[in-house]
Amino acid sequence: MRKVIVLALGLYLLLYLLPLAAMGEEGLSRRPEENPAATLTPPRAQGDGSADGARTVRLLLEDGTVEELAMDEYLEGVVAAEMPASFHQQALNAQAAAARTYTVRKQLTGTSAHPEAELCTDTGCCQAYRPLAETAESWGEQAGVYAEKIRRAVADTDGQVILYDGEPIQAVFFSTAAGETLPAAEVWGSEVPYLTGVESPEGEEVPNYRTRVTVGAEEFRETVLAAHPEADLSGAPEDWLGPVEHGSGGSVASLTVGGAAIPGTELRELFSLRSASFTLTAEGEELVFDVTGYGHGVGMSQYGADAMAEAGAGWREILTWYYTGVTIGDCPAG
Ligand SMILES: [Zn+2]
Repeated sequence: MRKVIVLALGLYLLLYLLPLAAMGEEGLSRRPEENPAATLTPPRAQGDGSADGARTVRLLLEDGTVEELAMDEYLEGVVAAEMPASFHQQALNAQAAAARTYTVRKQLTGTSAHPEAELCTDTGCCQAYRPLAETAESWGEQAGVYAEKIRRAVADTDGQVILYDGEPIQAVFFSTAAGETLPAAEVWGSEVPYLTGVESPEGEEVPNYRTRVTVGAEEFRETVLAAHPEADLSGAPEDWLGPVEHGSGGSVASLTVGGAAIPGTELRELFSLRSASFTLTAEGEELVFDVTGYGHGVGMSQYGADAMAEAGAGWREILTWYYTGVTIGDCPAG
């Protein structure tokens, strides 16, 4: 669901990384010992005095074993797995703080899905994780630069989480918004005060910002009837489609198909659409979905975070933009 697309490399990276490298330190919350030359050498000292180094995560791995990791090592693996390392440093920092917040909240609330571990590596249940060194193998010549960016994202935000009323939030995120993020109530049915909809600056520059899914009339009929037997899909496809009720940001709240009102989120799942922001038209014996953006639409947009960072926003600004009414602060003890 939150899988992100790897950016096209090449000229873009060249134009983008050179100024980044030249920018050097930004003086956010870097500790004095973290000069760039020193952090290019990977091994991390245990107990280096960081807040993340002092916390651990009990992680259920794919093979069923449970591993206990230092929080910083875990977060590096999460950030590398969840966001393209080519993204701006401040977007990666925002992702690191969101991932830490998600982790701490899981640790505080517990999960019945796997009581033996605080988190797992399944994106459908928790968040993606792959050891940084493993992910770095796919980065080719950029491995050194990218791995350093990931480590820095975790170190720059050391111990910092996103809080609402003093509690770590549900720091949900997704890939690409269609102009606006969506309120949690519209997507998941219950209101969350800090998950409102906000404008999001990314657009046509995002790879696959617009996608098209074409479904044959017979397959469309079978799929809809399996979920909604009450729908009347006799006659020609152009007669099947009724009124659309729109939600925020051009998303489909519900669409009437053969007289049955079907939520946009359900159509998204039924037809594997990249988002619930779409139009549906009947073209002869085919039904055509034109889709904008990627992901559930709630919380931080990753491409939006990158666009904000490119425009000069820092990671705290990015997070307080996407999560309404929150503060950034120290991780609660526990
Ligand atoms: Zn899990």
